[in-house]
Amino acid sequence: MAVVYMDNNATTRVDPAVLEEMLPYFSECYGNPSSMYLFGGQVGRKITEARERTAAAFGCHPDEVIFTSCGTESDNTAIRSALASQPEKRHIVTTRVEHPGVLNLVKRLEREGCEATYLGVDEQGRLDLDELKDAIRPDTALVSVMHANNETGVVYPIQEIAEIAKERGALVHTDAVQTLGKIPFDLKKLPVDFLAVSGHKVHAPKGVGALFVRKGVQFRPFMMGGHQEHGRRAGTENTASIIGLGKACEIAMANIARENTVVGGLRDRLEQGLLSSVPEARVNGTRESRLPNTANISFQFVEGEAILLMMDAFGICASSGSACTSGSLEPSHVLRAMGVPFTFAHGSIRFSLSRFNTGAEVDLVLKELPPIIWRLRRISPFKKDGDEQFACSGCEVCKH
Ligand code: PLP
Repeated sequence: MAVVYMDNNATTRVDPAVLEEMLPYFSECYGNPSSMYLFGGQVGRKITEARERTAAAFGCHPDEVIFTSCGTESDNTAIRSALASQPEKRHIVTTRVEHPGVLNLVKRLEREGCEATYLGVDEQGRLDLDELKDAIRPDTALVSVMHANNETGVVYPIQEIAEIAKERGALVHTDAVQTLGKIPFDLKKLPVDFLAVSGHKVHAPKGVGALFVRKGVQFRPFMMGGHQEHGRRAGTENTASIIGLGKACEIAMANIARENTVVGGLRDRLEQGLLSSVPEARVNGTRESRLPNTANISFQFVEGEAILLMMDAFGICASSGSACTSGSLEPSHVLRAMGVPFTFAHGSIRFSLSRFNTGAEVDLVLKELPPIIWRLRRISPFKKDGDEQFACSGCEVCKH
């Protein structure tokens, strides 16, 4: 059975051209890039090229790029550096909908003596910029707001957010893990101090990330050790993966228009098709400002996990908006922050597409998913007895 992979916000397939670029650096060119001899030096030069490619995608100088092990490390490094370089400032502003790579660190920092303000979102997942203005204080070290949300795809107005923070004297970090290759940004114009990305969300391998640190911004390393990355991130470089990330950035930039037209078109057809064939379904997250590949749809009165299991029988891979905490399924912190009603939040599914998806795959989901929802609603404990509103108009399941 073919896999229909629509979970690209969780991770992506490595692009064959990225893999091809990486392969020699496992077996033939395995020298340490810090070595004096040519066998290592040629690897060092390839890392320089990867840094240039990554910087070109960011719109920054190559010296402003630090390679890390993942998006989480990039986020942690930026936030800890902002606090370490300004010991007199102990306050952080962030949002309730950040990835755990930011949220759990900020919670830890609160336990370590910092103060934090968590900005809320409205029912569409949008921030209120007046709330941001009011939240920034003279002792605010950092404003950390994600560029786009991984669950709903909502894109935040990072240009305005950064301008507001800079005017008030705070450093700015943005988690752009979900936007690289999907939404263009140019760090020559975007006044953030730190920007985090992750390789495995852009068709590079897992275990590599990058952090932009603006020239002139004081930086305190997170990892102590060797002199790699100009002393900013110790540890022998993950050479093949860094080379892969550079190549993936180059391909992502060449495909960014296609991401918004072709991938966006597939997402829209999937979303419209599901909304028109399944009643009591809704999209979570404003459609005004959203990643082109992401559709977060709630199907009322059914469990997201049950939908995932039944879709798995057809090879369809997506995510649900619930997380298993203490043995019970809780709606995600993002859907809770948006105030999505309980019966919708439990039945939320995130489809996240990529340039490797096809129209035929969208057709398959549109064919197989509506009968799955009908079947689950028939046995749903939330549905009132005798409620006819979910009677199917004649699909394969209901004919029996
Ligand atoms: N930030 C966002 C918005 C993400 O979606 C993710 C991963 O899902 C991360 C950070 C963490 O990235 P990594 O898995 O590379 O640590």
